[in-house]
Amino acid sequence: EHLANQIAAGEVVERPASVLKELIENAVDAGSSRIDVVAEEGGLSLLRITDDGAGIQSDDMLIAFQRHATSKIAAAKDLFQISTLGFRGEALPSIAAVAKIRCVSATDNGGLARIVEIEGGAIRKDGETNAPKGTEMTVRDLFFNTPARLKYMKTVQTELGHLSDVVYRQALAHPDIAFTFQHNGSTLLRTPGNGDLRQVVAAIYGSSAAKSMVEIQGSDPDYSIAGLTALPVETRANRNAVTVLVNGRYVRSQAVMQPLLQAYHTLLPVHRFPLSVVHLRMHPSLLDVNVHPAKLEVRFSKEAELRTFVEETVKRALSAQAY
Ligand code: ADP
Ligand code: MG
Repeated sequence: EHLANQIAAGEVVERPASVLKELIENAVDAGSSRIDVVAEEGGLSLLRITDDGAGIQSDDMLIAFQRHATSKIAAAKDLFQISTLGFRGEALPSIAAVAKIRCVSATDNGGLARIVEIEGGAIRKDGETNAPKGTEMTVRDLFFNTPARLKYMKTVQTELGHLSDVVYRQALAHPDIAFTFQHNGSTLLRTPGNGDLRQVVAAIYGSSAAKSMVEIQGSDPDYSIAGLTALPVETRANRNAVTVLVNGRYVRSQAVMQPLLQAYHTLLPVHRFPLSVVHLRMHPSLLDVNVHPAKLEVRFSKEAELRTFVEETVKRALSAQAY
């Protein structure tokens, strides 16, 4: 069991950003309206995720740290309605196997909260405390018991970059959730959580970038798309400038990226990417999820139709602007 957890951890927990991704997804799944992230030293010495979601029932707390314990199994048929299929019930035990984790969770305000501390898979503390409704996960000293893995970590700056990417994408995917992100004592992100995507973009990329973006909006019988895309003045040299979301989840997809770029055809300088957030929604049956969830890749069953739809919708958004 302990070994199985360490092996699973090798797949789920590649670096601090993978821990953060799993823990934010859990907080999103719990219906949170506020998610606060605190990190130190690129997340290697500390990651703390605090949410105001449903909380974990006291009786379920230890179970949540066991392998294949998931409260989401009913929905597990559909990858894009839950966040963690493939690691179903593996995230918490995997993280607990390679770090020192403390979980404080309460399902009510004013009631008692359960507190559990697990270190390298072993329970160190189990008791009660006071805490508001929601969950606080504190992960310290990641890879403290797997020195080989620790050796592969890059600089604090590199790990911080990956952490930021995770928070930014979750914030862009969920403008209705108020996110904060703090690293080594300084606040790097604060989003209002009022559902306004443009304000999230402003918080991440700056207000002038946000102002320069035009709305993408469209639907056909199979797909709907919403988002923001920059006029050709706001471009970046990196394809990370384009955030593609499918049913609330960040993905990497040439089937969306290419028609988006195509819509800009002559407008875009070579090797430049327009700052964009493209959120596609579709029935999950139109997604081929026969790919590894951690790789963030996805196939669409009607890809040709999707490509045309994306290109036409983005073209319409751009041509509606006089610039
Ligand atoms: P999964 O997300 O695949 O179910 P995890 O190991 O990530 O597996 O989490 C195990 C279980 O712990 C979840 O199914 C959920 O019931 C509970 N849980 C974890 N984090 C939270 C949270 N922030 N709020 C509420 N419940 C949580
Ligand atoms: Mg999970």
